[in-house]
Amino acid sequence: MGNNKYKILIVEDDRNIASFVQMVFETNGYQVLTAERCQQGLLMFTSHMPDLVLLDLGLPDMDGEEFIRRIRPDSSVPILVLSARSDEEDKVTSLDLGANDYITKPFGTAELLARVRAALRVNRSSTRTALDGRFQVDDLCIDYDRRQVTIAGEAVHLTQTEYNILALLSQHTGKVMTYSAIIREIWGAMDNGSVKKLQVNMANIRKKLGCRPGDNRYVTNELGVGYRMLDE
Ligand code: CA
Repeated sequence: MGNNKYKILIVEDDRNIASFVQMVFETNGYQVLTAERCQQGLLMFTSHMPDLVLLDLGLPDMDGEEFIRRIRPDSSVPILVLSARSDEEDKVTSLDLGANDYITKPFGTAELLARVRAALRVNRSSTRTALDGRFQVDDLCIDYDRRQVTIAGEAVHLTQTEYNILALLSQHTGKVMTYSAIIREIWGAMDNGSVKKLQVNMANIRKKLGCRPGDNRYVTNELGVGYRMLDE
């Protein structure tokens, strides 16, 4: 069993948090590596090839964002940002640089484990989706070849743009996609009205999927940051 364990690299200078996180993962069957500095984290990343990185943004030698900049786009390893800052700008910046998700300190054991499991699943499910040409979560199904969306077998009638947005989110399941990342993919460029236009489209998508306001089935609204398609 020993060699099948997921290897997690924690880059965090706060020893209390690092040892808490290490304890949580070790007791749940993961192998854990820790680094207190960004540079050390980069070296450990290269030599150990972890399955996932938990990254603090405020590191003593370099900003954690620099870590993301250096390992993307060469590696698609899931990166989960641990941030003390509830600042939306930091979240957006790290996501746009290629982080998969963020978790705001202080966080609990259950939330941390769930986020890590989701991030590890995303890496596997993206290959699965590409293979069979369809996406399925709960009773929602997207057939990429036919560009068709159904809920419990019933067709959902989306506009071209609405379909493109939903398909895009489904290809990044479990991951928050920032407003600007979605807008770039769908419309190419960002202007003053883009975010509003996206929000209007999302409201229509949710309505057509049968979601009531505030109902987070299928897609969650990450306020001030973007949207996330749920994977379970
Ligand atoms: Ca720190």
